[in-house]
Formats: sequence, C-alpha cells, structure tokens
Amino acid sequence: MIDNLLKEIGNPDTIGITGHVRPDGDCVGAVLGMYAYLSNVYKDAKIRIFLEKPAEMYSFLKGYDQIDESFAYPGQFDVFICLDSGDIDRIEKADKLFLGARKSICIDHHVSNSGFGDVFHVEPEASSTCEILTRLFEDEYMDTEVARALYTGIAHDTGVFRYSCTGPDTFIALSKLVKYDFDGSKITDETFYQKTYMQNQLLGRSLLESILFMDGKCIASSIDRRAMDFYGATGKDLDGIVNQLQITKGVEVAIFMHEIGTLEYKVSLRSNGKVNVADVASYFGGGGHVRAAGCTMNGTFYDVLNNLSLHIEKQLKDAGIL
Ligand code: AMP
Ligand code: MN
Ligand code: MN
Repeated sequence: MIDNLLKEIGNPDTIGITGHVRPDGDCVGAVLGMYAYLSNVYKDAKIRIFLEKPAEMYSFLKGYDQIDESFAYPGQFDVFICLDSGDIDRIEKADKLFLGARKSICIDHHVSNSGFGDVFHVEPEASSTCEILTRLFEDEYMDTEVARALYTGIAHDTGVFRYSCTGPDTFIALSKLVKYDFDGSKITDETFYQKTYMQNQLLGRSLLESILFMDGKCIASSIDRRAMDFYGATGKDLDGIVNQLQITKGVEVAIFMHEIGTLEYKVSLRSNGKVNVADVASYFGGGGHVRAAGCTMNGTFYDVLNNLSLHIEKQLKDAGIL
C-alpha cells in the first residue's frame, strides 16, 4: 500500500501513465487526473499518457489531447503508473513500458487484482480508482482540472453515487473535490446520462430481445456483429445497457454481451448482491468487482449463456434463492 504517493514517485525526469483497454469513465478520470496532478507537482518532468483514445465527450478534461494511442516510446521511463486495471493483461500495449520502467506503480480497486508492479496499492473497498487518488493527492497540488477529472471517475464507477460501492469514504472524497469550480451536473449529464440516438436504439433493441430465465432471477441479452455493423456501433456505444437490464424487478444477475469477433463475445455481468460475479468472470479468465465484472468468451450466444448460467445457478442455489 502507498502511504505517500509523491515520496513513492520520487524525483523522476520521465513519467508514463496508462489505464486499461476500452477505458471507462473511472479509467479516463484517473489517468487524466493523475496527469493534471503530476503536471502541477513536477513542472520540469516529461509526462506522457498512453491510452486507447477515450470518447470525445471526455475532451473537456486536461490532457485529453496529449493522449498517445501509439504506445510507442523509444526509452525507459523513470516511473510508470498503471491505473484502474485489475491485471497487467488489461493494459495490453502498455505492458512493455510498464515492465521496462525503473519503477512501476499500480493503483486500483478491483477485488480480482492480486497486485502487480514494483509498488501496488489496491483498495477493493473503494468505489473507484479516482476515489483512491483523491485520498492520495495532496491539497497543495490540487486544482480545478484535477478535481473535475477525479469527480468524473467517481461519478461513473458509482453510477452517479448510487451503486453499493458508494460509501462514507466516497462522500468524504467528493467533499474534497466539489469545492473546486466546476459544474458536476453538467459532467454527469454529458458523460453519463446523455446517449446518442443510435445508442438509445441499441438499448431499446437489447431490452426488446432480452430473455428472462432461472425463475426471473437472471436476464440476458446480446448485440451481434451484424447489428453493430448496421448501426456503425463500437463497444463504447453499448455502455449502460447491462445496468438497464440489471434494474429489472426481481432480477439478481444481468448478462449483456456483444460479439467482438467470430463466435467471440465481450461479456458484462452485474449482480444485485446475492451472486459474486467477479468469481464467475474470473473462472472464464476475466475479473472485476463483486457486483460488476466482465470477461471474454467463445461460442454462440447460447453456448456462452449456458456456461455462465452453470456458475450463476450454483451460487443462487447455494444462497438458497433457487
Ligand atoms: P464492464 O462490464 O466492461 O463494464 O466491466 C465491469 C467491471 O469488470 C469493470 O470494473 C472491469 O474493469 C471489469 N472487467 C471487465 N472485463 C474484464 C476482463 N476481460 N478482465 C478483467 N476484468 C474485466
Ligand atoms: Mn474501469
Ligand atoms: Mn474503476
């Protein structure tokens, strides 16, 4: 665990920052928040950001235009920081830079994260990586740019302060951020709630085609390659669909998947508390949190569903729900 982040970072000339593939709001907020913060601390250091380009709606955050998608860097970093990634496989192209750095630091909140890098700080109880960073960052180097990035991340991973991961410490962290001059509701409106017409159509389609099974305890839906191509959609356009499935009355587990290759699905799992979906996802090589996890699986939609169902059913039976 890290006590003093700046002491841990030391006095580097070069710092690299990365996050996980297909970055979500917490990942983007953490990476850009870290960038803004370290820019205030280390005025002379060369700070680089390596990340898959996040959606345009995040372009209001400082450092967005500095994001390097090429992952190409000729030298070795003094310090390389990995944020919001539960394992090293999820930083894909940045792994060589991370492993090759003089000092590698991992800060994260996934229960499935057993820790990697020279120094790691994993708080599975934290709502978000941005909540952890809010605690680790010193007031002296905070400013509006840092605060709004961290606020964005906390808002996303807590479903705008609603999910059960939102605890007293989350609000303590938020109280430190909201004193800065930014419009929090504008951020959540524009980056969390707002959907394009196409995204809403995909949501509608997913709900219409969803199936309810296991005595109404489980709901599942999918979007195949053909539908994705028809709408010109990418995986990012499907964010939030699984959460809508999850709030179906009576449901314990929601499964949403979309086809990313031939007979290959990216699976998102959400639980209302009785089933540990991180365990289910880990079994299939993925991971995440107790109530929100994901993995990649092969087969048809029904193959994938059958495989997942075995594990979910067992947990529901063990809990006396089925
Ligand atoms: P998602 O369903 O993609 O929103 O992901 C839910 C949670 O599970 C997030 O915290 C992700 O970091 C984690 N997660 C999703 N997919 C994977 C995966 N393939 N491997 C490990 N963790 C994952
Ligand atoms: Mn994330
Ligand atoms: Mn996160």
